Amino acid sequence: MDSAILNSRIYTGDPTRPWAEAISVKDGKVAAVGHNAEIKALCGRSTQTFEMPGRLVTPGIVDAHLHFVSFGLYLERVDLRDLTSISACRERVKAAVLEKRPGDWIIGRGWNEHIWSDRREPCAKDIDDISPDHPVMLVRCCGHTVWINSMALRLAGITREAVDAPGARIERDAGGNPIGLCREYRKIIEKIIPPPTLEERKTAALRAQAEALRYGVTGVHTCETLAEWDALAALETEGKLRIRIHHTLPPEEVEKAKTRGIGLTKGSDRLWFGQVKLFADGTLGSGTALLHAPYADDASTTGLECLTVAQMQERIELAYRHGGDVAVHAIGDLATTNVLDAIEKARAAFPGAKRDRVEHVQLMHPDDFARFRAMDVVASCQPVHLHTDMLVAEKKWGVDRCKYGYAWKSMLKAGIKVQFGSDAPVEHINPLLSFHAAIARQSPAGAPQAGWFPAERLTLEETLHAFTAVPAWTSRKEAQLGMLAPGKIADLSVFAEDLSALGPEKLPSAQVEMTMVGGEPEYGK
Ligand SMILES: [Zn+2]
Repeated sequence: MDSAILNSRIYTGDPTRPWAEAISVKDGKVAAVGHNAEIKALCGRSTQTFEMPGRLVTPGIVDAHLHFVSFGLYLERVDLRDLTSISACRERVKAAVLEKRPGDWIIGRGWNEHIWSDRREPCAKDIDDISPDHPVMLVRCCGHTVWINSMALRLAGITREAVDAPGARIERDAGGNPIGLCREYRKIIEKIIPPPTLEERKTAALRAQAEALRYGVTGVHTCETLAEWDALAALETEGKLRIRIHHTLPPEEVEKAKTRGIGLTKGSDRLWFGQVKLFADGTLGSGTALLHAPYADDASTTGLECLTVAQMQERIELAYRHGGDVAVHAIGDLATTNVLDAIEKARAAFPGAKRDRVEHVQLMHPDDFARFRAMDVVASCQPVHLHTDMLVAEKKWGVDRCKYGYAWKSMLKAGIKVQFGSDAPVEHINPLLSFHAAIARQSPAGAPQAGWFPAERLTLEETLHAFTAVPAWTSRKEAQLGMLAPGKIADLSVFAEDLSALGPEKLPSAQVEMTMVGGEPEYGK
């Protein structure tokens, strides 16, 4: 179908013509970008035209770091947030039971007894009658305490005789019988839940896809395994894959993928492999991000080194040997230094242009900015984390070090390529949450008033660049994707409002009007 968007405000991402009024699409590609009159002159009788005054059109938004199938599975969980009674929770569980086969697990999340009219903690008896044939695990909003039914208690072996796991507690009645409320037991129960089947992964991927398209996301970079790849590949064969997926691979699956003929350099323009994914350290919240100097709130530790430089180098060389690049998780400043060291050594043995990336880069050592740029490594960041991390980072790293935390403007000034993503399901996929965090550097409630380290605030154009052109480059797809210019694939996102005219506080609630992939409107219109 040929189409044209007229009378709009279009950010093209094309440095020769960054803004335009209208765009024409033919055979899935951008045919022309320009003024209304120019584009109208190209419209034939069969051209579908969209008049879109007051909207903002951008190149298709790409979420450059998430866990796509996991996100879909997360969306399938029974949502108990904001419910105000046990009976309301029961209704949701009941509905889920009807959708699942006997024996299938029902997993829910987000209940909070403090907002319930009942004001008491729940137990198995509250749900046993509605779930006699389904094991149920309902995770409290804290993520630690679980409310489980009698069938789940049985499967988990939590009987009268069971002893509490270390650091955890099974709540019991006066007779010592477990009541179905277990503290610090989520991970323990999760171990007995069977992994999703191929069909379940496919269903989850479709759900994640629908959510992505609804938020204007036309492509994602997902960090998962061959099991998830298989589900996505099956959907592609069935013609159901509507967005584009760049897939990373863990190092232990590189050989296996190759023997199946789906190595690191393979794929289509819908689904392809990118980098090998490695981990250099832990996380901010758990105090395991690897630092050059000790933690501000615990001088006895500098965090956790997941891989030494030598171990990392070995795995990077594995990726290079198979024609791939790497994506390395590094949150602390020493982790990033180690990654750069390892990449430098591996590249000495495997010369040639690489598209390597460091995931998260939440804290940088001041000396590493120039080095990062010189090695042309991509900083792959998730601004939305800032919403919750600001205060934690100050406490754990100290205010002085935070000057180099989430320092996206400093990265851009140093000439580093920066790309953005959501890390869903850790955060929601809505890219506008990250737009807000990058542009305002405030919590969703608007604190601090001037923004956290306000010199690091970005403009809307800088943020858009990180969600479009840079992920295309990291994917080696910059010839086809990442900007709206003649000959590029017509992936584009249409926001219902002109984001450049909105106060940053309004960004998270702005709506997407249309999401187009390969010239096809896949959402809206
Ligand atoms: Zn992640």
